[in-house]
Amino acid sequence: MIVAIDGPAGAGKSSVARALAERLGFRYLDTGAMYRALTWLALHDGVALDDGPALEALAAAHPVAFGDNGTVSIAGEDVTARIREPEIDAAVPVVARHPEVREVMRGRQRELGRSGDSVIEGRDIGVVVVPEAEVKIWLVADPAVRARRRHAERDGLAMDELSEELRRRDERDAVNTHRADDAIEVDTTELTLADVVGRIVALVEAAR
Ligand code: C5P
Repeated sequence: MIVAIDGPAGAGKSSVARALAERLGFRYLDTGAMYRALTWLALHDGVALDDGPALEALAAAHPVAFGDNGTVSIAGEDVTARIREPEIDAAVPVVARHPEVREVMRGRQRELGRSGDSVIEGRDIGVVVVPEAEVKIWLVADPAVRARRRHAERDGLAMDELSEELRRRDERDAVNTHRADDAIEVDTTELTLADVVGRIVALVEAAR
């Protein structure tokens, strides 16, 4: 079974998807981490972020690897912490916009996701990557709550900077963020993580 979790930045996708996968005994696939790792490598190797074919070649040559303990690696480097830096937040939508980059990434995401029961988190999962997913969730939250959650994860950035960063990223990601017609919306603004996971588990049980 595949559970697709889509929605904007800061809605709680990663926390929810990780906890849900653990509870169900499913694999967890963080597709944002794949775009983040490629962006880190492009900056590290000096590949221009507006050069789609060069980024496509870079992505094809360096598959992103996920370790059992949640680590993210690319080109032999453990980039788990580095891909969460503000510099990556700002640059990743530029890399993710190239259709040829998305084709490489989506192919890998399908391979990884279809190799067993999975929770796949991203922005285009339920509509483009695995439209056959049995359960599709559209996760949303109030913008102020999204900024506050991000504040707890990112040291040293002021709340207004974070709100602005999320707003700008939503705008740049809008073209690749899709809500499936058959997705169920879950608004996490007023809910605890356990509440959200409980609701989705009930939907998964009903779909089995
Ligand atoms: O979810 P996360 O914030 O880690 O995603 C980082 C970036 O990766 C997004 O801002 C977006 O540009 C890109 N992304 C995407 N499609 C996905 C997942 C992430 O374009 N399925």
